[in-house]
Amino acid sequence: MLKTPWIRTLQARSMHLLKDKAFIDGQWLPAQSNKVFSVTNPATGEVIGTAPDMDQSDTQSAIEAAATAFKTWQDTTAKDRSHFLRKWYDLMVQNHENLAKIVTLEAGKPLVESRGEVTYGNSFIEFFSEEARRIHGEIIPSPTPTKKILVEKHPIGVAGLIAPWNFPHAMITRKAGAALASGCTCVIKPAEDTPFTALALMELAQQAGIPKGVLNVVTSSRENAPQIGNLLCESPLVAGISFTGSTQVGKLLYRQCSSGIKRIGLELGGNAPFIVFDSAKVGNAVKGAMASKFRNCGQTCVSSNRFLVQRQVYDSFVDQLVKEIQGLKMGNGQEAGVQVGPLINHTQFDKVSDLVKDAVSKGAKVLTGGKPATQFGELFYEPTVLTDIKENMRVYTEEVFGPIVNIFRFETEEEGLRIANSTERGLAGYFYSEDVAQIFRVARKLEVGMCGVNEGIISTAEAPFGGIKESGLGREGSHHGIDDFTYIKYICVGNL
Ligand code: ADP
Repeated sequence: MLKTPWIRTLQARSMHLLKDKAFIDGQWLPAQSNKVFSVTNPATGEVIGTAPDMDQSDTQSAIEAAATAFKTWQDTTAKDRSHFLRKWYDLMVQNHENLAKIVTLEAGKPLVESRGEVTYGNSFIEFFSEEARRIHGEIIPSPTPTKKILVEKHPIGVAGLIAPWNFPHAMITRKAGAALASGCTCVIKPAEDTPFTALALMELAQQAGIPKGVLNVVTSSRENAPQIGNLLCESPLVAGISFTGSTQVGKLLYRQCSSGIKRIGLELGGNAPFIVFDSAKVGNAVKGAMASKFRNCGQTCVSSNRFLVQRQVYDSFVDQLVKEIQGLKMGNGQEAGVQVGPLINHTQFDKVSDLVKDAVSKGAKVLTGGKPATQFGELFYEPTVLTDIKENMRVYTEEVFGPIVNIFRFETEEEGLRIANSTERGLAGYFYSEDVAQIFRVARKLEVGMCGVNEGIISTAEAPFGGIKESGLGREGSHHGIDDFTYIKYICVGNL
């Protein structure tokens, strides 16, 4: 199915990981319609393979397989589930490099970042293999001597997991790890741009001996995604949905889940402020800004989206940041040393170039970049710095999801916070300050679910990931990640 020399080598070394069939009830299957869709390498535009273009009928089979598997999986011991997850994790570690290559191939991110994602993604399975054994209940002191109050946590049932393309490995393991640890079974729908990583993970799950039907992957084109999402939300056999993606699709799924009062976890878009206060160590702030902005070419929901810099440090921060940005190496993520790859697809590319055009037409100044980098390929856009941002520019309110840095100058802490919080989104926020009182004040007042203080990289399996306002519901990762997949049962034992 795959062509270039890089792909051929990968194929020869890891044939077993590259699948062009979906995974339902322990079987590798085409779509019942036999339709397929193409997946391209965003760095080169080359078709790297095809995957089954499944629809509602295939999804129904996957849901039924997961519902059947739940009958026995829910009764496995926590220790058994822990061992299955650990085995899956060990196989992911053994196949680390090949998984990273598949991520780079379909998501376009530099290989060094894909390696980082695989380490990060694997860590969720390791973490939840441990957490599986710590999903404790409670005994609550009863007000009545003849009654005992017991509280248990039970798996909700079949979980529908809908994943995005920007972290094709980690966004699946973060959900599936928690679901399996809790005793749930899953129907996973990976993004249309990146189905191969999800399928490679299923191959390893199968090798780990995870029973058939516990994990199922339904692949589809963008056109079929709404009908699959609709069935997952409305099927009485599905107990809950966990979604990571756009706010627009998240709102739609939330509405669809209301018909069955279904559980839903939503990780939606952000609009992260990155604030540099006068007391900040500017060098640290520049380092944090680079890490938080340019990971995956700016295509992460916790990417800094608006840089707010206080007056006294403004010139020094901007000069240093522009220098760093001009030193970034762009190119095909498969080449050594590349730090910035392409945008994922044409929709994303057009959005990024339109945002810059809109800002420039309304008076923004371009300090570096500001145009496509066509010498590398159709989907490359130069790392860009814009200043003189105004509230009527689309970059002020919209999530950029690209290598664009917008910089505002502000005077007072109050003004900085006002701008930072003037958004419907509240996922991540970052600030740099050496003033202890300011650190605690601002950390409390920033309207976000996750706050980086003098730190640009905050994601880790041990910490709860999630947002407030329109950025989502629930938390993933950490012991809180279990909550979306369990319900509380109160048992009252009387007549004691
Ligand atoms: P993006 O715009 O970044 O691709 P989306 O929210 O559109 O983000 O996509 C995230 C995931 O949601 C993908 O797996 C995609 O196929 C899926 N998706 C897109 N539209 C729908 C829908 N109407 N219902 C369910 N899933 C959808």
